[in-house]
Amino acid sequence: MQLTHNRVFRLPRLGPAERVGLGLAAIIVSCILILDFAFNIFPDKTDGVREQRARVSEQLATQASVLLETTASDALNVAMSRWILNEDDVLSVAVRGEDGRIVAQAGAHQQHWRPTKGGASTLQHVNVPLMQGDRRWGWFEVSFSPAGPTSIGQWLTQPWFIVVLTLGLGGFVLFSLYLRRVFDYLDPQAVLPDRIRAAFDAFSEGVMVIDPSGRVILANATIREWFNKDGANIVGRPVRKIELLNSALPARTEDHPWMRAINQRSPVRGEYIELEEMDGTLRKLTVNCSPVMDPDGGARGCITTFSDITEIESLNRQLVDALEELKAAREETEARNKALRDMAMHDVLTGGLNRRAFFEAVEPAFQAARHGGQRLTCIMVDVDHFKSFNDRFGHAVGDQVLKVVAQILHGGVRSGDVLCRYGGEEFCMLMPQSGMDEAERVAERLRAAIESTAGKSVRGAQGVQVTASFGIAEFDKHENYEDLIKDADRALYVAKDEGRNRVKRYDSSMDAVTA
Ligand code: GH3
Ligand code: MG
Ligand code: MG
Repeated sequence: MQLTHNRVFRLPRLGPAERVGLGLAAIIVSCILILDFAFNIFPDKTDGVREQRARVSEQLATQASVLLETTASDALNVAMSRWILNEDDVLSVAVRGEDGRIVAQAGAHQQHWRPTKGGASTLQHVNVPLMQGDRRWGWFEVSFSPAGPTSIGQWLTQPWFIVVLTLGLGGFVLFSLYLRRVFDYLDPQAVLPDRIRAAFDAFSEGVMVIDPSGRVILANATIREWFNKDGANIVGRPVRKIELLNSALPARTEDHPWMRAINQRSPVRGEYIELEEMDGTLRKLTVNCSPVMDPDGGARGCITTFSDITEIESLNRQLVDALEELKAAREETEARNKALRDMAMHDVLTGGLNRRAFFEAVEPAFQAARHGGQRLTCIMVDVDHFKSFNDRFGHAVGDQVLKVVAQILHGGVRSGDVLCRYGGEEFCMLMPQSGMDEAERVAERLRAAIESTAGKSVRGAQGVQVTASFGIAEFDKHENYEDLIKDADRALYVAKDEGRNRVKRYDSSMDAVTA
């Protein structure tokens, strides 16, 4: 069988001051009750009531005796009914003969009267003997209303009850307030054994124990050093009264990390707070809170640790800055290396690959053609009568012509094609995955572009006509790429030979001509 304890209602948890206050008030009330029991310090009204009722009963009995002798019993009944109306606490009266019969009565006497032992009177039922000469011939019976309090309302208005209640409640409130103040000034740390305090003090971290009302009940040496700036002991004080700490915390006390840990009954870790010291410097802290539980699941307080991460934070910042600088330096080096690589691979004047870089790029394309069945075409380009530009306009203009021709050739290559400055005014283009027809179309377009625009673009010389000759060869059982380039060169030779400014496709008959 499983037992579950579901408490529907939980009494508010009293603090230590309230608990001691309640105990002291209970002691005072007990003492008063014992004193009253022993010395009757609250005056008892019963005796007075008893005397007064005996007197009233005697008077009524005397009047009844007189009336019995002088009038009929009906008149006696009427007179007795009037007495009941006149006397507030008289409920009923009766004249009873010695034989026990009722001679006359008023009020519901049967209901109110209780026969008394041996005719003795009580507080509520008074018996007065009726005498005729020396002989007793009957009794005059009077029933009174109850003398003491009969309802809760009457009980609550009893003077002794008011005194006890006032002393009890007032004592509780005054003691609790007083003890709270006393506890504020008492150092709860004093109850801890020295070695435990020494152990807490040895921590470089700040350690604080905080009770559920938000009051510091223990602070180790680090905490005291941080917060005891004004010399006042922070132990016993509410956290919100520790100025330096409070200014770094949320405005609502229940949002403080230790109060959340206490209220949620679970740890709160890694909270970050910043303390602003008097001199303006910042102390950066991480706060961890672990609630201290009592056996029935309530939180008795919270152990809170404060780790100073100011130094680590600043080192971290420096590290991040250093890493960023390193990254920038590495990017700069990489950019320079790339520029150097580009310079090492390209011809400065024309921007095309140099021969060494060109041969590195050609090798894989040639192997793909030789072993992978891919098509590969090579175009050799040579500027016509280039020497004459140098001779007529000087070397600088010659360079200009080379630049312009290279620009036009660059504009014609597709991605995947490779362009190289092969010699002085010679260029070589390699077109992977292209056949002779496509290469011829490209070459013809480039030739026409050079013829129509290159001369106009040369700076420093007017009316220059620039043309170039093209030779094309497609891969076909060549042993190496040098042979392929050689075939394209043969076709170029034929183009020169046939009058320049033209495109020639290689065929084997050219071997004989150029050999
Ligand atoms: P062809 O039509 O038969 O090709 O005649 P060509 O004058 O173009 O041929 P040739 O090979 O006789 O002349 C090439 C000249 O190119 C020789 C050399 O002085 C010049 N040259 C080579 N490299 C450069 C360079 O970088 N700048 C300049 N300005 N001239 C160069
Ligand atoms: Mg030439
Ligand atoms: Mg040449």
